[in-house]
Amino acid sequence: MLVIDTSFPSTGFNERNGEPVRQVILHYTAAPFKSSLHTLTHDGVSAHYLLPDPDEPSYRRAGYDELRVFHLVDEDKRAWHAGVSHWLGRDNLNSRSIGIEIVNLARDDQGVFSFPAYSQEQVVVLIDLLRDILARYPQIGPTDILGHSDVAYWRKRDPGPRFPWQDLYEAGVGAWFDESTRAMYQRRFCVALPPEVEVERAFQRYGYKPAQNRQAFEQRTRAFQMHFRSRDDCGFLDAQTCAILYALNERYRGI
Ligand SMILES: [Zn+2]
Repeated sequence: MLVIDTSFPSTGFNERNGEPVRQVILHYTAAPFKSSLHTLTHDGVSAHYLLPDPDEPSYRRAGYDELRVFHLVDEDKRAWHAGVSHWLGRDNLNSRSIGIEIVNLARDDQGVFSFPAYSQEQVVVLIDLLRDILARYPQIGPTDILGHSDVAYWRKRDPGPRFPWQDLYEAGVGAWFDESTRAMYQRRFCVALPPEVEVERAFQRYGYKPAQNRQAFEQRTRAFQMHFRSRDDCGFLDAQTCAILYALNERYRGI
């Protein structure tokens, strides 16, 4: 059962100015529960929800009986979690999204990343929370459940390659590709990859921001791989990555 705790409201929000909610953006905190709760309620960043890790010491010490979700900002207010971001031709997604911060102690040691797994209990509660949100916003489609790295690939890696996107999809939340469509495209692309200009269009059609240069192209490829092929997020455009992208577009964008 979903337990929502509203006892720590955040000061970090403003008005949505009439923009409809269209996306849910998932983040990791890269910090323990206690300091994350403080940051997200006092500083210039916030999110609508904070989901702790039940095994993380600062949450265990807080003494709650169950894994609860902290509701920090009302959904009809604009929280400050996405920053400079882009999806499907729109910028600055804070106005149009609900942000969920998930406690996970990922680390970035000067570009050397480590990504701990998410706890099973955390994933179960997250799925409950997302189902709860989706029931209230029927306009949020499968391809609108996104990672921060999808909408800000040039500067963000969260929720990281250990995030279980496929488990969410199998629970009815978010997008995934059809396996036989992927295999069909992959047989074709093993012979020759599509021209890069076509791949660029395919990324944009799915929702990603246009890549302005080679570095951005690789960053976006890596972000896409973290989401849909996380066992190898090399950032190199290969036949399988292209095949997944084309299979997703065929399923969700009608081409
Ligand atoms: Zn983030």
